[in-house]
Amino acid sequence: MKYISTRGNAPELNFEQVLLTGLASDGGLYVPASLPEFSADQIAGWASLAYHELAFEVISPFVGDCIPEEDLRSILSDTYKSFSHPAIAPLIQLDRNEWILELFQGPTLAFKDFALQLLGRLLDYFLKKRNQRVVIMGATSGDTGSAAIEGCRHCDNIDIFILHPNNRVSEVQRRQMTTVLEDNVYNIAIEGNFDDCQDIVKASFRDQSFLPDGMQLVAVNSINWARIMAQIVYYFYAGLSLGSPAKTMAFSVPTGNFGDIFAGYLAKKMGLPINQLVIATNKNNVLHRVMTDSVYARTELHQTLSPSMDISVSSNFERLMFDLYDRDGDCIRHLMETFNTDSIALNDDAMASARTLFSSASVDDAATCSIIAKTFNEIGYMLDPHSATGVEAGRLCNRNPDQPMVVLATAHPAKFPDAIEQSNIDAEAKMPPHLSDLLEREERFTVLPCDKGVVNTFMHDQL
Ligand SMILES: *Cc1c(COP(=O)(O)O)cnc(C)c1O
Repeated sequence: MKYISTRGNAPELNFEQVLLTGLASDGGLYVPASLPEFSADQIAGWASLAYHELAFEVISPFVGDCIPEEDLRSILSDTYKSFSHPAIAPLIQLDRNEWILELFQGPTLAFKDFALQLLGRLLDYFLKKRNQRVVIMGATSGDTGSAAIEGCRHCDNIDIFILHPNNRVSEVQRRQMTTVLEDNVYNIAIEGNFDDCQDIVKASFRDQSFLPDGMQLVAVNSINWARIMAQIVYYFYAGLSLGSPAKTMAFSVPTGNFGDIFAGYLAKKMGLPINQLVIATNKNNVLHRVMTDSVYARTELHQTLSPSMDISVSSNFERLMFDLYDRDGDCIRHLMETFNTDSIALNDDAMASARTLFSSASVDDAATCSIIAKTFNEIGYMLDPHSATGVEAGRLCNRNPDQPMVVLATAHPAKFPDAIEQSNIDAEAKMPPHLSDLLEREERFTVLPCDKGVVNTFMHDQL
């Protein structure tokens, strides 16, 4: 399998190379040169597979000959052992044709574990073979940092540095990162906001001369192809559980960077009969606006009760645009260069074709709380605020009440106690047993000024 850049001007890579790369050298994102397609018979034949076995069937065409079958099977089996539910991604019924796909049974209680538990293991596998060490560097406003740290803490060939804005992430989210005490894990609290953290990370990727000889930085945000790849699996898993491929399906996906829902789009192209994908956004509705009026435009950022969807630009949307523009890299390069400084009007035909599959809604905090309360009061099920936007958007956009609507539950409610409290329900969000003592655990992190030089010197001294 070969990977190409959405901006048409970077070298083709194989799976091993794309795993170790962030952005393409032309500023684009890597996508597979072609997608594997599965027949209905083939998909039906997977109905009784365990999660990690299904993952092998879906993922192996993307890996190609970079990992022998036996090794890939063993990596996948190991990856999903860290999940606390035997179904890995259990389905919960909310209504006659409405389902919740619980993607928060991993170690850090958010769906990002599905990809980052695998990413750490894949990186370690290749690095061992190459006898090489790499440095992971990332910025987080919450979920990504803890999932990345948890995915890499046991990796022998990785040092990981995660920057978070000092005093600006929730206590639960901070502690999920800072109570990991392995020697290869470094938490840096920056005296600044999330954008400051991200600016330092971006500048460090551009100039890596501060690293010791032979070392390189690796990105673990959702521009990394392997993260998208890992997320395709649970669409097939849910579909098979609910009668696909004989039955068509709809999914509603709480969306920020468009990574998770892009994986659903790929699942459809690979043969899963998905008829509708609902883009659920909060007040930060850049994607809802582009779907509605075909104009892709940044606006100011709002703080909401679903902070992991608080973004002003959705980087993975470029991967969809590439397909909508018939994979014309030059065209995407021009559009994205304009988008650096300006809004862009997208092609009407392209957007009309996108609307046959995608619909969208923007759900504000009041509606989010009211869905949390209603669901809890009616059936005793507690939604986290991100998943609640998914439920509401799924209901608003549903085109066919006779087909199952599967809402992706992207986080456990205990990660976002403020939203649960504001929903005024007669219950608290309880931590699962493996994290019940989180507030008593020892923490370790370093506070640094908002200064790339200081951060890079600190990193150099630890390596
Ligand atoms: C990251 C995250 C999202 C958004 O996912 P994208 O792939 O960026 O669209 C939604 N919900 C939660 C809980 C998350 O952590």
